[in-house]
Amino acid sequence: MKILVAVKRVVDYNVKIRLRDDGSGVELNNVKMSINPFDEIAVEEAIRLKEAGVASEVVVVSVGTSKSEETLRSALAMGADRGVLVDLGDAGIEPLAVAKVLRKVAEQEDPGLVILGKQAIDDDCNQTGQMLASLLGWAQGTFASVVEVVSATSAKVTREVDGGLQKVLLKLPAVVTTDLRLNEPRYASLPNIMKAKKKPIGKPTLAELGLSETDIAPRLEVIETRAPETRSAGVKVTSVAELVDKLKNEAGVL
Ligand code: AMP
Repeated sequence: MKILVAVKRVVDYNVKIRLRDDGSGVELNNVKMSINPFDEIAVEEAIRLKEAGVASEVVVVSVGTSKSEETLRSALAMGADRGVLVDLGDAGIEPLAVAKVLRKVAEQEDPGLVILGKQAIDDDCNQTGQMLASLLGWAQGTFASVVEVVSATSAKVTREVDGGLQKVLLKLPAVVTTDLRLNEPRYASLPNIMKAKKKPIGKPTLAELGLSETDIAPRLEVIETRAPETRSAGVKVTSVAELVDKLKNEAGVL
């Protein structure tokens, strides 16, 4: 079985993000970019399924700009076999557009499983996997903390839901999105980073995927992006009496 994994290039999670001066969004110039952390978990899961003899090939796909090749190389260095880069230039790509592109890639690649992150940490949309499953008409297991391929036609997914865990049995092919506890991604070793440079990356155009510019046109307009209000530092009190006094006389809430 082939596994397709979607990986997005996002601002590295360690970076303290800054807004552009004109409020049009997050500053991306001279900022460290990395593979979306939930996508790293997705790649790790696919590689583990290959190591367990369940999967035969792991294909990673990214939709973005030519710079997304770097993101694909990170996934290839972890152990994925091959990449697909859909370069859409600088267009602001929304989850529905990504899902439409991924649908076409999935139809061409014919995987048994597509694994995505539950959300991209840049826009926090948590939409792409669900939209992709809907467009393909496939089953979906979102927020997965365990993925077991039971047979060639079914997989059991444990989902992290509010207040507990839910187990669902999915008919394959299916779409799975990863939650944080699914696994701990490996670090790529130096030899594997070197090997990844030679792994193939296909670059289909939008037309080759059977899509037009209209299909991926944005449907949202960002009106404003604002940084959260800065909060003043807290204070430590030494006794309950002092706390009550501050709440009464300084905060005026008692
Ligand atoms: P989102 O719906 O934007 O929160 O993203 C959820 C997941 O969809 C991500 O973790 C990725 O696996 C996948 N995804 C979103 N955008 C892209 C993209 N531009 N290229 C590849 N995968 C993406």
